[in-house]
Amino acid sequence: MFATFQPTWQIESIYDLKASQLKKRNIKAVLTDLDNTLIAWNNPDGTPMLREWLQEMKKANILVIVVSNNNHARVKKALAKLDLPFISRALKPFSRGLRLALKRYNLTKADVVMVGDQLLTDVAAANHFKIRSILVKPIVESDAWNTKINRFFEGIIKNYLIKNNHFETRWGHKLNDR
Ligand SMILES: [Mg+2]
Repeated sequence: MFATFQPTWQIESIYDLKASQLKKRNIKAVLTDLDNTLIAWNNPDGTPMLREWLQEMKKANILVIVVSNNNHARVKKALAKLDLPFISRALKPFSRGLRLALKRYNLTKADVVMVGDQLLTDVAAANHFKIRSILVKPIVESDAWNTKINRFFEGIIKNYLIKNNHFETRWGHKLNDR
């Protein structure tokens, strides 16, 4: 059961992802969660660091697609200044959004990686859909109320993974294969 929640990789931040590391693993597109992964949930404008990272991906021809459980209006507003393609109402941990993204952009499961800050939604969705995943540390420590509930259960799962040596308790800055 806990295999559902085990990420392929862990890194501190999505901004740590280098195009070269992705290319080495044949990743052509990054599917990313929105809140607390790409931007802080309480600071939707993003940061210069984010813009820099998006530039690097663009230069390397790596597609960045936002796959969010939030509604269309909220995601559209959050991404207005960033001009990124997105799937809203993704229904993570179900695979609806991931399946849609692959179909819409003509990608295969082997082409993509899902990046997110939550085991219960982002990582679980990736594992259900049988694609690789990257867990990142949430950008801000506080969470929206609905995320707080998930974090409680996540804590239990995390402790189990740590006990069984399936979780890095120290956040690194590059993709390390186990
Ligand atoms: Mg999130």
